[in-house]
Amino acid sequence: MQSLVKRLLAKVESIQTKHQPAKGTFTLSASQPALLPLLETVPENKSYSSNLKDIFATEYRLLRPRAPMPAFDVRFYPFTGINTTIRLREGKALVRLSDMLEGAPESVLRAIAHILLAKLYRKPVDATHANRYRRHLGSDAVTRRAEQVRRSRGRKNVLTAQGHHYDLDEIFEQLNRQYFHGLLGRPVLTWSAHSARRLLGHYDAAHNTIVVSRVFDRAETPRYAIEYLVFHEMLHLKHPVQVKGGRRCVHSREFQRDEKMFPDLDKVKEFLKKL
Ligand SMILES: [Zn+2]
Repeated sequence: MQSLVKRLLAKVESIQTKHQPAKGTFTLSASQPALLPLLETVPENKSYSSNLKDIFATEYRLLRPRAPMPAFDVRFYPFTGINTTIRLREGKALVRLSDMLEGAPESVLRAIAHILLAKLYRKPVDATHANRYRRHLGSDAVTRRAEQVRRSRGRKNVLTAQGHHYDLDEIFEQLNRQYFHGLLGRPVLTWSAHSARRLLGHYDAAHNTIVVSRVFDRAETPRYAIEYLVFHEMLHLKHPVQVKGGRRCVHSREFQRDEKMFPDLDKVKEFLKKL
């Protein structure tokens, strides 16, 4: 009797898992295929004749003709790889596509939609779709784009507050205590990637980042020069750009008054002029 109940329960469970979507997040990982793929022979229409949601809805219908349709939330994300994920949350299917797939031919996006949905609902993956996706990953365009993205993202990672001689975070904290009662929230501070002489420092409000030219990160640079540059950019944090009568006022009167708090301003300006 006991074993019969057990067997029945096991059967129910297996039916449930068969008909219910799998739990968790499904990743379509995309390491480059080892073999160079055949060329895509069908000419592709690069324009998105239908949007991503429609693509997913169509592929869903083909895969599950009678099941209720979940709402799709499909977005491109800046992933480092070409990985793409799908998961169900509160009846919504959340799809995250690597932004490296932006501009991919529609047939490739269709293939991806099919593969992700098949994995989610435990259905066999159609071979045509699988091949199309694999070929796309191996195509020259994708390899080049992946390389480009890696390079541009790599460059961002080079940015750092800790230079060879000076640490911008440490300088910021000192100035914050000295002139701002420690009240300024610390933005991202970074040395520039290149030793620019034209742009010595700037505050990027959109990214809340203070950038100081790499030119100053050397032993010969007096500390007060770097302190001044960081101080100036900190004033931009304190005094956001004002718009008066349609004109942008970057260094307002209040800004200039505060700047005079910095000691030996003349000495600093003299140093910067010689640069
Ligand atoms: Zn300024």
